[in-house]
Amino acid sequence: MVVVTEARATEKQIENIIKVLHEHGFDVHRSTGVQHTVLGAIGVQPEFDHRQIELLPGVAEVVRITEPYKLASHAFKRNGSVFDVGGVKIGGDQVVIMAGPCAVENDTQIYTIAEKVSKAGARVLRGGAFKPRTSPYSFQGLGEEGLKLLRSAADSFQLKVITEVMDKSLISLVEKYTDILQVGARNMQNFTFLKELGKSSKPVMLKRGMAATIEEWLMSAEYILSGGNEQVILCERGIRTFETATRNTMDIGAIPVIKKKSHLPIIADPSHAIGIRDKVIPMARAAVAAGADGIIVEVHHDPDHAKSDGAQSLFPDQFTQLMREVRIIAEAIGRSLA
Ligand code: PEP
Ligand code: MN
Repeated sequence: MVVVTEARATEKQIENIIKVLHEHGFDVHRSTGVQHTVLGAIGVQPEFDHRQIELLPGVAEVVRITEPYKLASHAFKRNGSVFDVGGVKIGGDQVVIMAGPCAVENDTQIYTIAEKVSKAGARVLRGGAFKPRTSPYSFQGLGEEGLKLLRSAADSFQLKVITEVMDKSLISLVEKYTDILQVGARNMQNFTFLKELGKSSKPVMLKRGMAATIEEWLMSAEYILSGGNEQVILCERGIRTFETATRNTMDIGAIPVIKKKSHLPIIADPSHAIGIRDKVIPMARAAVAAGADGIIVEVHHDPDHAKSDGAQSLFPDQFTQLMREVRIIAEAIGRSLA
């Protein structure tokens, strides 16, 4: 932490700031400039609230220089993490494509879509069996029946499964059917739930909360990691901003930022980020170009009759086009599709 004093700070005030820093266990290095004095406070105090220093008379600015997350940090693991999900690698040189409907609706629907996305090159089948809907009157998902259909459709077409778990009471049920547990944007800061996920042996894909900063997102990942589960995958799914032209604002910039700050793989979800079918492919291309380790995208064979998110679901032919285009981009930056 660096403390910059006000230009008119008195010697007495500066000495008091140093005294308080010492009391909190910091070593202090003082550098006296012409106008300002800069105090370097050395030492890790995880519980320390820097605002306690900001409030002291004579302080102009306090700058925190160490990150509050440890296990999620790039410094903790210099090489990016790679997770092996039944032979499908997440992270590393490969770019993995996950695709499927927003929700599992019935057997014909999930089998039709699984076959099409598998043929086009997807490795993981997505589909919600428990849906977090804004309205309690909207389709809530098929529950365990949906999980069974998802698993069997995926197995029929050599796909792995990712599906959302909405609550800690459902973890053991969802774990029975899925390869990757998805935590939805609305649950990113449900800390008791994240702690429970720390005990799971399955990888967890943690979606970014709609109003979460990158630091808050990594702190949520830290909850799962510190619980003992090392397999955390991040997912950028768009954030809420002042812009209303798209469903959310896809924060492509978060991808290189995460790559610099963390060793965890990052997947991009252009469907929920942009919210309308005709713009999903360009956003998928952009995400891969920015360094995403994969894409999760909604695909439906009959989106006009989908029970949820039809307008943002790609037709199977569009998904084939997405695959073709992101493959070219991945190869252009020295990667390949998983
Ligand atoms: C989803 O992927 O089905 C979903 C509900 O996404 P999010 O949590 O990002 O809104
Ligand atoms: Mn959806």
